Amino acid sequence: MRPLIAGNWKMNGLTEESAALARGIRHGLGDAAAEVLICPPATQIAAVAAILAGSGIAVGGQHCHTGKFGPHTGEISALMLRDVGATHVILGHSERRADQGESNALIARKVSSALEAGLVPIVCVGETAEERDLGQQQQVVAHQLEGSLPQDFVGVVAYEPVWAIGTGKVPTAADITAMHAFIRAELKRARPTAADARILYGGSMKPGNAAEILALPEVGGGLVGGASLVAEDFLAIIRAA
Ligand code: PEP
Repeated sequence: MRPLIAGNWKMNGLTEESAALARGIRHGLGDAAAEVLICPPATQIAAVAAILAGSGIAVGGQHCHTGKFGPHTGEISALMLRDVGATHVILGHSERRADQGESNALIARKVSSALEAGLVPIVCVGETAEERDLGQQQQVVAHQLEGSLPQDFVGVVAYEPVWAIGTGKVPTAADITAMHAFIRAELKRARPTAADARILYGGSMKPGNAAEILALPEVGGGLVGGASLVAEDFLAIIRAA
């Protein structure tokens, strides 16, 4: 399976800079071996999708509601993401688990609504620094997988150790390999519909470390935050894949 390199712009990008970044990525892409996905803030999805139309670069959302329509002020449904050109949606990012208090059960319902709308969910899991210090990383990730993935899950899983996000810290190659093998085994055991799902690594992936991380067994691509906001850096990560 081709690796997937997904850029998570988070809450960054007004109209002009988002357009410039999307154009820069489109024009610099060339013949990429990887599948490429960009997840801009919701306000920019339609515009970025229009800029990327026909390029092969997919566009995604960064979260969605559990329902389709209704009295949920400020929310966006999976169907609405799909309507403006998204094909994927990131769910269960640690920032939303922490800032919005999203539980595993809520994330599982969002994953189901994404699947129902025809979106590919990218479900994030990962331990905090404290949990790793206590040696609980596999236990934590197993619990998140069990709670966040519906029984019929198909999609992408992203392993993102919380302590590696935006910090410049990256787990050792051995630690990434061990966790990805563990996630693969858990998917095979408990979610056979997702036994072959891509497992992305996310957390301070940069041009300088991408090739090494992306070559590790069971690493099916990367979820990239900060480095996806600089076209040259994101393109270098895509080339590394
Ligand atoms: C992320 O938040 O998904 C992420 C991987 O961020 P960064 O690359 O900036 O660590």
